[in-house]
This record gives sequence, C-alpha cells and structure tokens, in this order.
Amino acid sequence: MTTIGHLINGQPRIDAARTQDVFNPATGKAEKKVALAPKATVEEAIAAAQAAYPAWRNTPPIKRARVMFRFKELLEQHSDKICELIGQEHGKIVHDAAGELQRGIENVEYACGAPELLKGEYTKNVGPAIDAWSEMQPLGVVAGITPFNFPVMVPLWMFPMALVCGNTFVLKPSERDPSATLFIAELLHEAGLPAGVFNLVNGDKEAVDTLLTDPRVQAVSFVGSTPVAEYIYATASSHGKRCQALGGAKNHAIVMPDADMDNVVNSLLGAAFGSSGERCMALSVAVAVGDAAADTLIEKMQAGMQGLKVGAYHDKHNDFGPVITRAHQEKVVGHITSAETQGAKVVVDGRHIQVPGFEEGFFVGATLIDRVTPDMDSYQAEIFGPVLQVVRVNTMEEAMALINDHEYGNGTCIYTRDGEAARYFSDNILVGMVGINVPLPVPVAYHSFGGWKRSLFGDLHAYGPDGVRFYTRRKTITQRWPSANVREGAEFSMPTMK
Ligand code: NAD
Repeated sequence: MTTIGHLINGQPRIDAARTQDVFNPATGKAEKKVALAPKATVEEAIAAAQAAYPAWRNTPPIKRARVMFRFKELLEQHSDKICELIGQEHGKIVHDAAGELQRGIENVEYACGAPELLKGEYTKNVGPAIDAWSEMQPLGVVAGITPFNFPVMVPLWMFPMALVCGNTFVLKPSERDPSATLFIAELLHEAGLPAGVFNLVNGDKEAVDTLLTDPRVQAVSFVGSTPVAEYIYATASSHGKRCQALGGAKNHAIVMPDADMDNVVNSLLGAAFGSSGERCMALSVAVAVGDAAADTLIEKMQAGMQGLKVGAYHDKHNDFGPVITRAHQEKVVGHITSAETQGAKVVVDGRHIQVPGFEEGFFVGATLIDRVTPDMDSYQAEIFGPVLQVVRVNTMEEAMALINDHEYGNGTCIYTRDGEAARYFSDNILVGMVGINVPLPVPVAYHSFGGWKRSLFGDLHAYGPDGVRFYTRRKTITQRWPSANVREGAEFSMPTMK
C-alpha cells in the first residue's frame, strides 16, 4: 500500500513510524496510508524554511511572481490528475473538483500581481526635505493548516500569496486526503521554486502543535472546524504569532415570498447538496418567510431532488459523492434522526441510500427536513452533509434575527425581487459574506474571504487584499539628508509641522 509522505527542502520524505489510513470514500476501503510527521520532522521543515528565507526575501518580487506564472500553467496542464486525486480521497465528483481547482488557480493569478501588490506607500516632503515611505516586509517562516474539504483550493488561498510576499512556508494539509496537496507541492517545485522555500508535512495534532509553538514560525493561517480554529488561535497567539483561524458555518438562505421560486430551488439544490454539503459556504438552512412560500419551496424542492444522482467521483453525470468518512456518515445520519425525534418532518430521507456497485461507500442521500426550529440540536450544529433544513418564520425581521443569533456568521443569502429588502438585509446582517440571489457568495480572489462571529478568529480575512496584509508587516521609514552646512540644534519638544 502506498504511503504518502512529506516534502522537505525540496526532497520527498516518509516517516513510517506513525501512519493513518487514507480511504476512498466511494468504496469505503483504505487504499493508501499517510505518514504522520513527528515533532522532529516538522522542526526539520521549519529549519529548511528558515534557512531559505534570507535569499527568498531578497529575491525581487517579479522573480517570485514568475514562479507563480509557471505554477499556474502546470496546475492547468495537470488538472485531470489533480481532480482525479481529489476525487479518489475526498470523493467529490470530477466536475466539482475542477471548480475547486479553478477557484484555487485564481488565487495563484492574483499572487502573480506581487510587484503591484507590494509597492507600498510614499510621501515626499512630510517635512522640510523629509520623505517618508511604508514598506510591506515579509514575516519570515509562516505556516498553513488546512481542512479536508478543499485539499487544493484552501492551500492555494494561503501559500501563493505568502510566498510572493517573500515569506517561506510550512504547510500541514488534511491527513484525510493528502495526495492532491502533495502533488501540487511537487508542481510548485517544478515551476522553479528554490528548495526549502515551501515545505509540506503531513500529520496530525503533534505536527500542528509543533507549528503553533515553535518560535521560528511567525504566523499561522488555519482553516477547519470551529473548536480547532479556536484552539489554534488561542495557542498561536499566546506564542506571539500572528494568526487567522477560519472555522465552521451554518449558512442560512432567506426565501422571501416574492422570490422567483424556480430559481431558488435550482440554486438551493446545488448550494445545499453540491460536494455532499461539505463546503463551509454550503446553504444548510432555508428560512421561508410565510407558510405559502414554505409550502411552495418544499413542494418544488421535493420534485427537484428526485433527479439528483449520487455516486462515485469519476462519473461526471453524478451530482455529488460520498461524505468523507464512515464516522462522518454516521454523524450526518444521526443529525437527521435527531431532527426527526425532536419534532421536525423528514420530507426527503437520504439515510438509507444504496449506490449500486458502491455498497460500502460513505454515502448519504440528499435530505430535506421541514419544520425545523432553532431549539433543535440539528439546527444548532454544523451538519456538513447533504441536508437542507427548512425553518418557517412570519417576517423578514424574524428570519434575520435567527441568522444574527446563530453562533456562526460565515455566509448567507437572500432570495427576493425587492431591492430595498435586499439592501436592508446586506447592511444589517451579522455575517461576513452575503449573497443577494447568489447562493454561494464565495468572494473572488481579488476580494477576501472570511466569516464573522465564531466562523473566524483573528482580524484579517483570507486571500485577496487581506492576504497581502496578513503575510506582510508594515515598516515606515522617515528620511532626511541634512545638507552639510545646515545643522540644527537639539530639539526637545515633539516635532510637528506647525
Ligand atoms: P478539522 O478542524 O477537523 O481539521 C482541520 C485541520 O486541523 C486538519 O489539518 C487537522 O489535521 C487539524 N486538526 C484537527 N484536529 C486538531 C486538533 N485537535 N489539534 C490540532 N490540529 C487539529 O476540519 P475538517 O473536518 O478537516 O474540515 C471541515 C471543517 O472545516 C468544517 O467545520 C468547515 O466548515 C470548515 N471549513 C471552513 C472554511 C472557512 O473558510 N471558514 C473553509 C473550509 C472548511
């Protein structure tokens, strides 16, 4: 059985002492193993990044950007293989994996603008013959820790920007689907990145804790579940590191009575069930305003869900695949059962789905639950499966209060034809990413991605302009060259331009 290892100082490495099975979620079988790096191996990766930093920091931004131009070409050239690797270990269908890769590539494209992004600020004559400028300097060695659900896109949110800003990097991807991430790391080196500038260690908590506490690591970007995000933020911060930790979500869509209901249903089918609901921006709750809207929504959703195809990643006719592990499958099924037990109505039940030829796969069918109420456990939790819950309310204010009261604030959306309602919603909702008739308002690469409340710990969002800020620190230089024959005496009051 293949063991997936690390990439340290440009060289492949395998620690065989501790490994974990990597499953194909469609077959339910362990097909590979992943090496779990001990502390010493992670320290080696940090040391490699530290050693590579001085030369990389002083490499002109345009040369750093050129590596990204070549990297983008290689990602495109190898897209079939990347999607195949994602499908094998994550389970998402190849067309969905291609979408993930494309959204990742857009971050590489943005990073290609490094010379423009790093220009800084300059003011001539802040005082007589005094000039000032602000530079954006790299931080040093920075680390990324990423989740299973986007094994290519989320790492690409982080390291292209970190690298073009002049940092060196240690990535700890998800141990559940590590192959695609390792493969793109190899492509990065093929693109001409010097050894040691980017290092990848596979592993679990031991590897993560080493990154969080090692004094050579200056900053940590994390994406994953909220309990872990909170731990990462607290630990990294208490060790003096800059940290952005993006967590979980519970994304609501408000369905107003005036919405174009066919459009709503089409959007919700993709946004709730695409990628088996394992997206942090998946719409998992539809809040219908008024019983008439709710009844129509349920009826049309039920009809729309009849045609959904669930199966293995390689058949592009499938709409979505399995969930990531047997344990997660059981957890999702448990949430459906708990909603039912607590009084909700399971309208379409995906608990007992059988996919011919893949009987042992971790599948959950698309599930629609009506009359969910905020006190139910399934409403409070991030289910992270192909489950859409419908909550009925009487007014838009009530719908907004639900969203604002929820612990998460990642994404949300309103379906309406009323511009005034949409404007009021986007202005007042306590959520970081908002859609207006757009179900998955994932910001494009030249904006930034991040939720509010317990969906993000830290100040700066991921990628885009906030990514540049996160991976650089400002230095402001004030300069004067006094002419030889003008010498001023000592000045004891605070210098001003008065
Ligand atoms: P996870 O939190 O289990 O794992 C994320 C990373 O943290 C992995 O690399 C894992 O090895 C590591 N990790 C796990 N437990 C740890 C621990 N106790 N100590 C130290 N490190 C630990 O998340 P996941 O299941 O891989 O991903 C799904 C979650 O990620 C969902 O909650 C989803 O909403 C969230 N997510 C959020 C965003 C976002 O942008 N907000 C994007 C994608 C996924």
